[in-house]
Amino acid sequence: MELEDIKGIGNNLLKKLNSLNIYTIDDLLENYPYKYNFINIIDINNAVENETCMLKANIVGEAKVQYIKRNFNRLNFKAITNNIILNVTIFNRAFLKNNLTINREVVLVGKYNKLKNSFIASDIKFNITDNKIEPVYHLVEGITNNNIIKFVDSALQEVDGIPDYIPDYLNKQYHFLSKRDALNLIHKPNNIDDIKKASIRLKYEELFNFMFKINYLKKINSKAKGIKRDVKWEDANKFILNLPFELTSDQINATKDIYNDLTNENRMNRLVLGDVGSGKTVIATYAIYLNYLSGYQSALMAPTEILASQHFESIKKNLEKLNVKVALLTGSMKKNEKSKILTSLKNGEINLIIGTHALISEGVEFHNLGLVVTDEQHRFGVGQRNTLRDKGNVPDVLYLSATPIPRTYALTIYGDLDLSIIKTKPSGRLEIITKVKKEDEIKDVLYKMLEELKLGHQIYVVSPLIENNDGLDLKSVLDLEEKFNVAFNNKISIGILHGKLKNKEKDEIMEKFKTGEIKILISTTVIEVGVDVPNSTMMVIYNAERFGLATLHQLRGRVGRNSVQSYCYLVSNKDTQRLKVLEESNDGFYISEKDFEMRGQGDLFGVKQSGEATFKIANLKEDYKILLQAKKDSMEFIDNKGYEDMDYYQKMIEKINFIN
Ligand code: ADP
Ligand code: MG
Repeated sequence: MELEDIKGIGNNLLKKLNSLNIYTIDDLLENYPYKYNFINIIDINNAVENETCMLKANIVGEAKVQYIKRNFNRLNFKAITNNIILNVTIFNRAFLKNNLTINREVVLVGKYNKLKNSFIASDIKFNITDNKIEPVYHLVEGITNNNIIKFVDSALQEVDGIPDYIPDYLNKQYHFLSKRDALNLIHKPNNIDDIKKASIRLKYEELFNFMFKINYLKKINSKAKGIKRDVKWEDANKFILNLPFELTSDQINATKDIYNDLTNENRMNRLVLGDVGSGKTVIATYAIYLNYLSGYQSALMAPTEILASQHFESIKKNLEKLNVKVALLTGSMKKNEKSKILTSLKNGEINLIIGTHALISEGVEFHNLGLVVTDEQHRFGVGQRNTLRDKGNVPDVLYLSATPIPRTYALTIYGDLDLSIIKTKPSGRLEIITKVKKEDEIKDVLYKMLEELKLGHQIYVVSPLIENNDGLDLKSVLDLEEKFNVAFNNKISIGILHGKLKNKEKDEIMEKFKTGEIKILISTTVIEVGVDVPNSTMMVIYNAERFGLATLHQLRGRVGRNSVQSYCYLVSNKDTQRLKVLEESNDGFYISEKDFEMRGQGDLFGVKQSGEATFKIANLKEDYKILLQAKKDSMEFIDNKGYEDMDYYQKMIEKINFIN
């Protein structure tokens, strides 16, 4: 059964569903409510002043709309409930007028004022006969909550096979509901208990599935043989001695881990987890150098071209004096330039190639690839972790991640990888002074900006709004540019960077910012982790409440990259308590711990999350106990080869093995 088979889903709604990431019936059924409305209709005589209540009422007077100003209107009508006639008002719902026909029964949600006999409604519900629990789904424009309720209902009635990914013996052991019952109850619960029973089962299934992959990868990785390199510690150490600074103790430990990995017969499969600016690139470069000494090629992959070219510049500086040939390969390169590089890569003239993920996917051939380094690995789902490795014979793999997460969680969700954690930061680094400002305190921000500009420094401005796809929000960034132009008398050159620009345009703007031609760079989060322009000493983040703390921390890591004092201003009218954690601390691990405390899994997986490591119903913090159980159970399931009886896991394994 396909989505289109459901009555009411035409081309238009199909597109809307797709934009909610719903492509199949399974997606629809796994699109769980993010909350529930408890409909509890009371008698008006029991209504409490200033408390939201729900009343069943019949409309007795024609609805009238008043347009007060743009985007602001008011709808008035009379309704009767238990012999009391109320004056009902609701704001900004002019579009409901035609639904409010005389005698129609509705449920009014809002506050009753007995003295004035008025009712200020926040919502009006139709077609509700009784108390119930109403699921609330994420929506996009053009699709209503009721649409989704109906579609889910049809799907639940008409779909026949609903696959269950929990092995039978575990279903029995935990007395779980059947998958179908669980889906039924999560979407159409009769009481809170239903929601609890259904969600624990669905969470367990999701986490079991996830931990199965991690544990299976761990199992094959622990057995995988790699290249046993014959390189002396002192020789590799030459790279470290050549650096203009001393490594921190955590950096030294990480290089020791890597030395051991690369010189023993097991394949390296290591994650370096460290805060922004903790110096992970140097560690990766050490691995690359060691790999070079043993006669193998390396590949380094970054999530964006900007980051790739930046890595290229900084790594080349360190490696070329040690005779390592480094090349950059990007999608925006000219054809013959590209093919020249591809040829030298194939015949082994290039020792290190740096690029984006296209490096691996686009049929690039190596002479003898021995090491793959992946920057910002949290972007790539578990399933993708392995695809990086099917080039060459059995390349060792090193992942770098600037999303510091508490160690206990790291050990679980990265359970298939060995970990090197970097906590200490290079000494002599000044902490970034961070301030949370309300929108009406924007003057303070502008003054500070002016101060920094006068010192010849540059500024990043980040706004999450540009990322939204509708034209409206795009304008709000242009608004920002206009604002600054007014504030600074058109005297400061401003650049704008957002996802809709072509790569070439992005690079040009980035280049101008790097050379200092552009003083203020307004952007979405495209200037992601890693971008390095040391002369920028200030960052202003608008609508900071839209970001998780870990993301904000990563973003502000763009500044404070030299010995000059740097600043970060978070502009927000909401959620300031949470944001103040960033005023308090510059320690990514502490911040992510707080983020976990306040928002469950925090934004471990980034703002625009991708990959499989995002959960539809489970939450890493709240459901940590379930996760641990699923980890244990899936391990046993693998050890007992339980997957041999289950098609689903059989296929998953085939996929993993094939990739491997
Ligand atoms: P990360 O990738 O972890 O965000 P980088 O590797 O880009 O951090 O390092 C940030 C900056 O700090 C770079 O300019 C790098 O040269 C410098 N750096 C790295 N390690 C040290 C150190 N031990 N002492 C001083 N500076 C360092
Ligand atoms: Mg090894």
